[in-house]
Amino acid sequence: MSDWKLPWTARCRCERVRIKISAPPLITMACHCAGCQRMTASAFSLSIAVPAEAFEVTQGAPVLGGLQSADRHHHCPFCKSWLFTRPSGLDFMVNVRASMLDDPSWFQPYVETSRAEGFPWAITGAKHSFPGIPDASAFGPLVAEYAQHGARPT
Ligand SMILES: [Zn+2]
Ligand SMILES: [Zn+2]
Repeated sequence: MSDWKLPWTARCRCERVRIKISAPPLITMACHCAGCQRMTASAFSLSIAVPAEAFEVTQGAPVLGGLQSADRHHHCPFCKSWLFTRPSGLDFMVNVRASMLDDPSWFQPYVETSRAEGFPWAITGAKHSFPGIPDASAFGPLVAEYAQHGARPT
């Protein structure tokens, strides 16, 4: 179970920004928090945590959006798609928005967060569900489990 079919490419809605991912993800997530609902204009956000050194913007110049505070949310300057987040204090990873993948067909959220804020009908199928945002320490075992059992590109 090591064939991740890397590298992956991703793009914004208008295709002015392009991204390349060249290492396996640490974990995949859905977040039901009210902030993600507003940022996505939908029921929840989808993300793929990738090692920072394996993440590259290959075209375009993303700009900060969202609250422009500790968590740095990067968007396309033209179409304003929410592309990726560099979470505060977690410089080793980048949270890429799964919907931007050129081939998102294989994507499944392994963990869901802020379930308590979610719509009752918004079911993601995530293997692990947390009512809020778990402590960073909770992610170690989840990352190890995901490496073994996470869905791969088909
Ligand atoms: Zn764009
Ligand atoms: Zn959220």
